[in-house]
Amino acid sequence: MAAAESDREVPSALCSEFLNFSAKDTAARWLQVSDLPREVYQHLACYVPQIYCQGPNLNPQSEELLTQLLLQSPLEWYLCGEEPSTGLAKLEQINQPSQLCGHVFKVGEPTYSCRECAADPTCVLCMQCFLGSVHKEHRYRMTTSGGGGFCDCGDTEAWKEGPYCQKHEPNISDSSQEDPLAHLTPDMIARTYNVFSIVLKYAVDMLTWEKEDELPQGLEPPERADTYYCMLFNDEVHTYEQVIYTLQKAVNCTQKEAVSFATTVDRDGRKSVRYGDFQFCEQAKSIIVRNTSRQSKPLRVQVMHSSVVAHQCFALKALGWMGHVIRHSDALRRVLCQVGLQRGPEGEGSLVDTLMLCDSKMWKGARNVYHQLLMSSLLMDLKYKKLFAIQFAKNYERLQSDYVRDDHDREYSVTDLSVQMFTVPSLARMLITEENLMTTIIRTFVDHLRHRDLQGRFQFERYTAQQAFKFRRVQSLIGDLKYVLISRPTEWSDKLREKFLEGLDAFLELLKCMQGMDPVVRQVGQHIEMEPEWEAAFTLQMKLTHIISMIQEWCSSDERVLIEAYKKCLTILTHCHSGFTDGEQPITLSMCGHSVDTIRYCVSQEKVSIHLPVSRLLAGLHVLLSKSEVAYRFPEQLPLSELSPPMLIEHPLRCLVLCAQVHAGMWRRNGFSLVNQIYYYHNVKCRVEMFDKDLIMLQAGASMMDANHFLMIMLSRFELFHIFSSIDGRKRYSRENANKDVVQQNNTLIEEMLHLIIMVVGERFVAGIGQVHVCEEIKREIIHQLCIRPMAHSELVKALPENENKETGMERVIDSVASFKKPGVTGRGLYELRPACAKQFNLYFHHYSRADQSKAEEAQRKLKRQQGEDTALPPPVLPQFCALFGSLVKLLQCDVLLSILHTVLQWSLEPSGGHWSESMLQRVLHLIGMALMEEHQQLENSEEEATFSFTLKISRPGEAPSNSASILALLETLQNAPHLEVHKDTIRWILKTVASIKTMRERTATTPVADHGGQSQEETVRDKDKAERKRKAEMARLRREKIMAQMSEMQRHFINENKELFQQTSLDELEASASTSVEHSPTSADAALVCVGPRRTRVCERKQVVTCILCQEEQEIRPEGRAMVLAAFVQRSTVMSKNRQRLPPDPEKYDPIFMHPDLSIGTHTGSCGHIMHSHCWQRYFEAVQAKEQRRQQRLRVHTSYDVENGEFLCPLCECLSNTVIPLLPLKKTSSSCDPPTLGPWLKTIGQQVRSLHSAHRKAKATSAECLDSEPDCPAPQGFRLDHTPPSPYSDSIKEMLTTFGTATYKVGLKVHPNEQDPRVAILCWGSCAYTIQSIERLLVDEEKPLFGSLPCRQDDCLSSLVRFGSACWTAGCLSTVQTHFIRLLAALVPDPQVNGSPCILDVDMFHLLVSLVLSHSSVHCLDDSGVTVDVGQLHFLHLVTMAHVVQILLTSVPVEMTMEQESGGAEREEEEAVCRLYNSLRTHLGSALCEVSSGWHLWRCVKAGILPYLRATAIFFHHLNGVTPPPELHVFGPGQWEALCGYLSLPCNLLQLFYSHQDLMEPLLQGWCSHPAVKQCLQGSATLVSFPRESNQLIELPEDYSALINQASSFTCPRSGVDKSRAPTLCLVCGAMLCSQSYCCQTELDGEKEEVGACTAHTFSCGAGVGIFLRVRESQVLFLAGKTKGCFYAPPYLDDYGETDQGLRRGNPLHLCRERYRKIQKLWRQHSITEEIGHAQEANQTLVGIDWQHL
Ligand SMILES: [Zn+2]
Ligand SMILES: [Zn+2]
Ligand SMILES: [Zn+2]
Ligand SMILES: [Zn+2]
Ligand SMILES: [Zn+2]
Ligand SMILES: [Zn+2]
Ligand SMILES: [Zn+2]
Repeated sequence: MAAAESDREVPSALCSEFLNFSAKDTAARWLQVSDLPREVYQHLACYVPQIYCQGPNLNPQSEELLTQLLLQSPLEWYLCGEEPSTGLAKLEQINQPSQLCGHVFKVGEPTYSCRECAADPTCVLCMQCFLGSVHKEHRYRMTTSGGGGFCDCGDTEAWKEGPYCQKHEPNISDSSQEDPLAHLTPDMIARTYNVFSIVLKYAVDMLTWEKEDELPQGLEPPERADTYYCMLFNDEVHTYEQVIYTLQKAVNCTQKEAVSFATTVDRDGRKSVRYGDFQFCEQAKSIIVRNTSRQSKPLRVQVMHSSVVAHQCFALKALGWMGHVIRHSDALRRVLCQVGLQRGPEGEGSLVDTLMLCDSKMWKGARNVYHQLLMSSLLMDLKYKKLFAIQFAKNYERLQSDYVRDDHDREYSVTDLSVQMFTVPSLARMLITEENLMTTIIRTFVDHLRHRDLQGRFQFERYTAQQAFKFRRVQSLIGDLKYVLISRPTEWSDKLREKFLEGLDAFLELLKCMQGMDPVVRQVGQHIEMEPEWEAAFTLQMKLTHIISMIQEWCSSDERVLIEAYKKCLTILTHCHSGFTDGEQPITLSMCGHSVDTIRYCVSQEKVSIHLPVSRLLAGLHVLLSKSEVAYRFPEQLPLSELSPPMLIEHPLRCLVLCAQVHAGMWRRNGFSLVNQIYYYHNVKCRVEMFDKDLIMLQAGASMMDANHFLMIMLSRFELFHIFSSIDGRKRYSRENANKDVVQQNNTLIEEMLHLIIMVVGERFVAGIGQVHVCEEIKREIIHQLCIRPMAHSELVKALPENENKETGMERVIDSVASFKKPGVTGRGLYELRPACAKQFNLYFHHYSRADQSKAEEAQRKLKRQQGEDTALPPPVLPQFCALFGSLVKLLQCDVLLSILHTVLQWSLEPSGGHWSESMLQRVLHLIGMALMEEHQQLENSEEEATFSFTLKISRPGEAPSNSASILALLETLQNAPHLEVHKDTIRWILKTVASIKTMRERTATTPVADHGGQSQEETVRDKDKAERKRKAEMARLRREKIMAQMSEMQRHFINENKELFQQTSLDELEASASTSVEHSPTSADAALVCVGPRRTRVCERKQVVTCILCQEEQEIRPEGRAMVLAAFVQRSTVMSKNRQRLPPDPEKYDPIFMHPDLSIGTHTGSCGHIMHSHCWQRYFEAVQAKEQRRQQRLRVHTSYDVENGEFLCPLCECLSNTVIPLLPLKKTSSSCDPPTLGPWLKTIGQQVRSLHSAHRKAKATSAECLDSEPDCPAPQGFRLDHTPPSPYSDSIKEMLTTFGTATYKVGLKVHPNEQDPRVAILCWGSCAYTIQSIERLLVDEEKPLFGSLPCRQDDCLSSLVRFGSACWTAGCLSTVQTHFIRLLAALVPDPQVNGSPCILDVDMFHLLVSLVLSHSSVHCLDDSGVTVDVGQLHFLHLVTMAHVVQILLTSVPVEMTMEQESGGAEREEEEAVCRLYNSLRTHLGSALCEVSSGWHLWRCVKAGILPYLRATAIFFHHLNGVTPPPELHVFGPGQWEALCGYLSLPCNLLQLFYSHQDLMEPLLQGWCSHPAVKQCLQGSATLVSFPRESNQLIELPEDYSALINQASSFTCPRSGVDKSRAPTLCLVCGAMLCSQSYCCQTELDGEKEEVGACTAHTFSCGAGVGIFLRVRESQVLFLAGKTKGCFYAPPYLDDYGETDQGLRRGNPLHLCRERYRKIQKLWRQHSITEEIGHAQEANQTLVGIDWQHL
């Protein structure tokens, strides 16, 4: 027996019972009984198993119906005491609708948040509320919901402004305080209470029921059936594939059924996979368990009695029913809340408690249903939301522990509801004070991380997989903590202070466990064996980053809290480092007459840790003391005297030294884990609470210490003390000379140390450190990012730290520092730095990486050069320090620093040797500059005397060696040192500043005298010098740039240049240039140019010479010469299709000779225009093939092209190609003798055809030996039936003719290549016609002229295609092509010997014309009568044109003329003629054609309808016969009719064609109209194609992207019917929404075994294998071609910053960019999608590996 049985009928016993059942009576009985619960249980016990116990596949609709009638209805009757619909309606009338929207989000639904007004980012609105809110006009964020959660509209705490949308705006009479129960009668309340308590109790009992074979008391069924279910439960361990495979084995079902089971299990959490007796189910269970227990714990399976399952099913229904009922009335909702939260009689937990505590034991479906009920009841009632929150908090620890042990995603856990309560500020505050929530959360978290080292620190290194898993889950607690802290209190109560500080204690305990964790020791000698685990610790740090920041913010909002917090933090820190001097020897350092005590400690030898959260929190609080001025107002309350600055700076300094040493390459042997840690330490995600705070701690410490002492300790920790403390710094050389590596290392360390000093003194942009406003910090960050280069909005966002609300604060300041440049059709919008802000550039900005720094330096120098300034980048003017940090400036002029500066300058005197570095000198100059700026500023600002006297100090001679040159003197020397050319500008700037400070000092000392006169001499000399230098520099720069340009030009792929070259010169030009003859045909100059017919303008014969791109040899194109070919790509196309419903034809049987006017599928040929010798190409292709074979054997890599399918890349431009077209010369033409007119000529042709018929018959008959009865038809005069025309072409050309023909045939029909197939030629003509038609459309759509606007490659391709078409008969069987011709002609001129000709409404006339003209050669070659091909071409043109006119008249939809419009007689003649024709058509067709009296209207229709055909025809004959088109056709615009008709040798009044051949046309017209299909078409069902055919467009897209998201969110998978689609994808061609990338919608294609995804399947029906989609959730365009090719493309939606948001990560509102959408449409219309994919895949190899067919 299979698992899935056929649907069962509803048992008839139940039916009769159901007929007799009365819900009203049952309810009435219940009103009488004393023990209502017992009665109701009995009722359920009786009916529930009868309804739900009926095997696997009871019809769900009847199940629903029975539940409603037998179970819910009596409950409703009882509850209402009357007809439920009446009762509920009454309740609804007195209902006070909640002012909360509470809309619960579906997966993928758009949600909106306001960046300006939302209390936190979890506050969201549904689309409806959003559109009715004020936030629509604000800066909002749009995301898609992951499901669950609800709309916060109406929650006043969620929004700083505009909490209500228009719909949820409360009435003026605010009734929210009123008790909703006041409107209900006590009776009603009592009944509701009874029902809800019984039903909820029942549901809770059943959902938490754990026995498989028994029921709770009172529910035992009257008669117990012996049936069981084998129930399979979901887990997050086993994959879809594993489950599907196992099920197929265990319950013997098909793949499809297994997929369906697995889908349900995944969605609902459980699914019965078998129904039957116990044994039967048990057997399945054991197989499943056995099959899934190998690598992991087995899938959970239970064999459950059917009545248990039945009651559980109904329990879910009952919960849903209650949720439904309370929607009618806030009063009923209130009662349900009461019932749910009521404690038991003995004080035991409430029903809601029971549910929550069993949450992790329930299956997904059950959880979902009761979570939904909680959301629509308790969370919608403000009073009970609070009570529920308290219960939730009380159970918090237990719930979280259950969750951590469970394996379901958090969205299926009740703990996920925390966001609904904790983010409400008043609730959060209440929970902190009443339930001590903050402490609870932190303690619970810490409890779960038990693994510690000896010092009690976390130890993640030894984590097992299990523990790591647990660690991941427990992180959600940090999220809860964030919710609780996210809004800062505006008022503090004592209780809140107490509880917050208690929480802080717990938090500090947590940080203490992190302080010093994951210590590292430098590896010497040997490389580290195993990379240590570091990610867990950093994950923790990252997760806590915002919490730490928020705690600081909380502290800053209350002075008392801040003081207490500071004390607590300091205590903990002291505790952490109580033994920091233990075992470390104290030493004394002396230098420059100063000495300090410290310890002996080397970072390079001892343990050091990057994790110092306690120190960093203290640093943060320290800044707050300064910012809030608490430090000055309550110094007595602060433990400032307990602070030990050396202790404070010790660990942060070690950490910074570690970074420097890693940088210097000293820690190479410690592997990548350390490198990664250092990276994250500085990274924007972590640095705020890591690197930044360490720097602040150094600043805090240094500000409390003697500057010399601080620097000496720093030198010592950098392990550089010995270098700078020795009497003569130069000794360094002799000591270190031995080891170059050590010199190098120390150089880097010195650089790093100097940089650190620069930062300690210079980083003053944090409010509290410097006297700056908060927004200065962010401004400065942006300025320094933009100093590197202009950046897009998203790049800037990424480079800036985000706060807990995911805001950078950038919007407030960006416009003051940058200007926005909009993007073009590609690229994105960019912000550029305002020039005025460049002054603030600091080369040693602390957040620059080395790479950033050098890029910024280069960019800024370049900018200065462009502005003709010198290239010095002096330090910017800095803000003043706050008082607490004020003493930091002393660092700049302390003795130790001066000594360091002096030493480095002295080293730099010597050009040779690696004993100093450019960057070292640059930093020293920068420091000197900073000091000068400081002095300058003090002088400028000082009311009192300036204490800063740097200029004085640097003028003094040095101390060591005694009386060495002063710093100033050294600088003056260096100024002229040739080896310091690059620093000259900086040194010059320094000297200038020194001079100006001196003047300032003199001015303040003496009376200020303006004495610029003395300087002017010097100035002019200097200026001259400067000008000279600038000129030289400029010349050097120009030279350099020229060389660079040349270099890059050479580097650029030479293809590009050649591409240009090849595009510039087309074949035509080559032909023109090659033609040496001056003989102008007199006609072409004066007479009108005509491209077809005997009056055709003669084209002089020219020599065509082309160059092979492979061997570079020149070659003339001659019929008997070596073949030259164009790389080409043939593809099927539906771009012009007017009927996407038409099924693709069966390729084996399909007869393609006539194209239907709906053009539903065609074959397009394109080319990149690159020409090769056929033999060169063949060699190339064989090489590609061989290479591919080797590659596939070696490694299974794919390429962007499919060699087995004949694909290759053009060797020059790498354009995807799959065949080549041979180039052919123009046909030689001979002038015609007196040409026959249409009538006689058709007669001759008729004779020729008839003779061919009999000849063909004979040819067949000779083999079949049966002589026919038909009379022999003699050939007309000059028609040589026995003649076999010789092929004019060389062998190599013939071979290429076959190659291209076969390729077109293969692709066009999707069949295996067969050069013998009679359809080869037809496909080639078809492709020629289709390609011309598509190009004609493209030119119209692009508003380009018919001639002269195509790129040369397309012109070349068309010429080759047309000439190939006219030659391809020579490669095939002559009689086959003749047969085609006969059949084609018979469609217009009746031929009794041809059957099954289509009616003219079923033929695309342009295809017919092309095929007729091209196939005629096969007949004409036998004609020796002297009538030229030209005659035939003209007559075919006339004939087909007339047929087309008739076709248009028959299909043009008659328009009711409201106003008789008559033209002023200009086209009177035409109008009358067309009326006459139309009326004669009506005589043939009668009522099938309606009456139209307006000749004006008909003539309009004809003219408009036929224009595309005439244009395509002109292109065709132009390329076939090579006649230059008249100049009128080289411009775009109206009034081309005459030029076109003239060029085509047609009368402007097309109707003349009919009347000049009247006696010939009458019978033809009658013949066309009498075809039975014509009447059918006209009256029939099929929609007629009318002319002109409109160009197809991609579908209209909405302006606002969220409309699409909304559309997609309500889209359900078409296969499964109910499921939301995970990857809804929109076909941009036809607008179909598809369920992509999902098992449910995979299908088989073409009977092949492998299943493909919905998109791939759709491309085959909609786009002949090519598809353009929009993946709605990802905001990404997807191109697909075939089963293996695809790429992603930028969507046509941009945000206000001119950027796309692929993946919808940023959430900025997106709007349609029409230009970009047009660009995509153009790619599609040009048939370039496949080419685009090819280029994308070549550029990005990872795209090749994607399984596109599964999308
Ligand atoms: Zn809403
Ligand atoms: Zn609303
Ligand atoms: Zn807003
Ligand atoms: Zn060649
Ligand atoms: Zn090419
Ligand atoms: Zn689906
Ligand atoms: Zn489609």
